[in-house]
Amino acid sequence: MSTSFKKGTAAVWAGEGNVNTAGAATTPIVSSVAFSYTDLDEWYEVSKGNKEGYIYSRNTNPTVAALEEKIRVLEDAEAATSFATGMAAISNSLFTFLTAGKKVVSIKDSYGGTSKLFLDFLPKYNVEVVLCDTTDHEGLEAAILKSCDVVYLETPTNPTLKIIDIERISKAAKKVGAIVMVDNTFATPINQSPLELGADLVLHSATKYLCGHSDAMGGLLAGKKKFVQEVFQFREINGATLQADAAYMIARGMKTLELRIERQNASALKIANYLKQHDKVSDVFYPGLESHKGHSIAARQMRGFGGMMSFSLKDGWPAVKKFLPALKLAHLAASLGSVSTLAGPPRTTSHVELTEEQRRQLGIPEGLIRYSVGIENVDDLLNDLQQALKLV
Ligand SMILES: *Cc1c(COP(=O)(O)O)cnc(C)c1O
Repeated sequence: MSTSFKKGTAAVWAGEGNVNTAGAATTPIVSSVAFSYTDLDEWYEVSKGNKEGYIYSRNTNPTVAALEEKIRVLEDAEAATSFATGMAAISNSLFTFLTAGKKVVSIKDSYGGTSKLFLDFLPKYNVEVVLCDTTDHEGLEAAILKSCDVVYLETPTNPTLKIIDIERISKAAKKVGAIVMVDNTFATPINQSPLELGADLVLHSATKYLCGHSDAMGGLLAGKKKFVQEVFQFREINGATLQADAAYMIARGMKTLELRIERQNASALKIANYLKQHDKVSDVFYPGLESHKGHSIAARQMRGFGGMMSFSLKDGWPAVKKFLPALKLAHLAASLGSVSTLAGPPRTTSHVELTEEQRRQLGIPEGLIRYSVGIENVDDLLNDLQQALKLV
């Protein structure tokens, strides 16, 4: 599909119709493990990668390929591939390019699982990891210019929604020939296009907004063809393959991506403004607020500020323990980006793997609440927050 269509259109149509099934109006789940050939020469050519086609579903599968095409068009990328989970996308991408003796520069605030890779796993393989203060752009540039092989970014970050200037950091990376990867899970391709801003690869936990219904897991990668192919070759052998049924669920969810994100952008801004003036709330972290430190960069590089926010209550953890269970319109759960509102304390969810001291260093108060705005009517969400805040 041409990339000249707008994103909302691409989300519906891209990748569809690639599977020949008597005109089925949606790409079906092709659950076959293997694909058969009557012509041995053709089989050989497809197996060698000289001809398009399917061999074995660990490598490629028609339903999965339809989803990959959707993200490729939405991110306006040369190529895309997929993984069993978001962490599989991240770890496969990092381990493909970071062999012994190589160096990665990243930020202190990346997703909890990604932090674990940086702190516990990559160093074991003799990879040098340099983690900079997330919003210290000068510090990041200085670390990059000392030379590195990969620059790994995430913006907005989890859970305090810090913002990094992708264009500025990509320029520094280009000077030393480093590959720039950006985790675009929070923003989605509706709100932010890292490749346009200079990144080489963009990653997603498709489990979150792309799927959007909290009912399937997956990871996606899009970007420069030669890099995507290298990661694909590693993934097909280590086996972190996305299943066809999960790919179907994610592609189905993605058809409403623009509708959901536009709604969530608008609701989150209203809710952030409401919380900001509430006398029981101490801090609200939302990049759409002018008071947010990253607001001006976000206003430049994002088309919308997203549905994620976090806030803390003046009375800390004891207040959180009363407030969260009082919410009627929020699943208290890990994860984010679903049609239904989800809320939870990062100390129990995204950053549970870290110690209290590590969380403190990241500027994550123990009483912080992460709030993922769903697609419910915003007046009901505001009323729900109001009644729960009354109880603390
Ligand atoms: C959830 C998440 C991941 C990991 O994705 P999984 O699908 O849970 O493996 C990575 N990055 C961000 C920003 C996330 O929110």
